[in-house]
Amino acid sequence: MVDLKSQYRKIKTEIDTAIINVIESTAFINGPDVTHFASELAEYLQVKHVIPCANGTDALQIALMALGLKPGDEVITASFTYIATVEVIALLHLTPVFVDVMPDSFTMDVEGVKKAITSKTKAIIPVHLYGQSVDMEPLINLANEYSIPIIEDNAQAIGGTYTFANGTVLKTGAMGTIGCTSFFPSKNLGAYGDGGAIFTNNDELAQTIKMVANHGQKVRYYHELVGCNSRLDSIQAAILRIKLRHLDEYCISRRAAADFYDNAFKNNEHIITPFRSPNAYHVFHQYTLQLENVDRDMVQQKLAERNIPSMIYYPVPCHKQNMLKEYNCYNDILPVTNSLQNKVISLPMHTELTIDNLKYITENLIDILNK
Ligand SMILES: *Cc1c(COP(=O)(O)O)cnc(C)c1O
Repeated sequence: MVDLKSQYRKIKTEIDTAIINVIESTAFINGPDVTHFASELAEYLQVKHVIPCANGTDALQIALMALGLKPGDEVITASFTYIATVEVIALLHLTPVFVDVMPDSFTMDVEGVKKAITSKTKAIIPVHLYGQSVDMEPLINLANEYSIPIIEDNAQAIGGTYTFANGTVLKTGAMGTIGCTSFFPSKNLGAYGDGGAIFTNNDELAQTIKMVANHGQKVRYYHELVGCNSRLDSIQAAILRIKLRHLDEYCISRRAAADFYDNAFKNNEHIITPFRSPNAYHVFHQYTLQLENVDRDMVQQKLAERNIPSMIYYPVPCHKQNMLKEYNCYNDILPVTNSLQNKVISLPMHTELTIDNLKYITENLIDILNK
């Protein structure tokens, strides 16, 4: 699904030197690379504060903790997402409230959010799924109307943008009250281990987020609130500084691969290619098709026989997970999520796909579908 080795080879000298420099300096924790990376990423995203942390799941958890939510508060999010988005809500004894996604973009249905708001709603978590921004303008307007903070789950869309009606273009992750991302190796900006970050333009929240991520302390050994220990280590930060400089070019490579796929599949009766919202710069963390009138298991198996990996993201939506069974009362009001679960399939997507790779994948998938 991804080829991290070829990508590494192209930047090997820089990466190896950066890693050795951290080892030589022995500044493994909170070294200068961490501070530099945070300010370089803030500059890239055009946000005031970037607080690095240990992974994307922690980023979401810390964001919810920093907002001071109380057990029983409701958090609205999509069920059609990676479990981490919802797991942290339940972990903090908050109540996840699921809304459906749009049948074309697979992102949160803002009308559904409007219907789900109650007096207990204390946060909304839009997920920029597969690399495409949620329709943020109406969501932000709605959240402002009810004074509800937005936490963007930007784990899959770093480098993406959203264009507002007045022409303003903002990076995904930089539009909400707080933005969160993951640097898991296969993400669009991937480290060589775990990593994550939290973004905000709010000075006070930034202070609280820093404290929460550091045992609730501002002054060492004086702990003002219950926090956690969540850090990005210096080696990962040094690697991410280098990869950040390539992020825009990585997004372009992914989009070029998506263009090739779109073009190859455009007239196939069994395939719906990914929708591209005119407001969003889609960075294709995943290239996800919908298959129609064909046995998806058979397709996956035939692809595998021809050495073509494919994945189902995600075979079971959150509202049907046993982990969350006490919250799955929204089952039958999520028809789009329930139907996508059975139709989606993701093809190999990364920065190193060659024309030969793409030809092989598309020709074989079309051949399988035509049989
Ligand atoms: C990867 C991912 C996360 C979690 O990131 P980790 O770094 O693996 O903890 C959260 N949300 C979404 C949508 C993701 O894709």
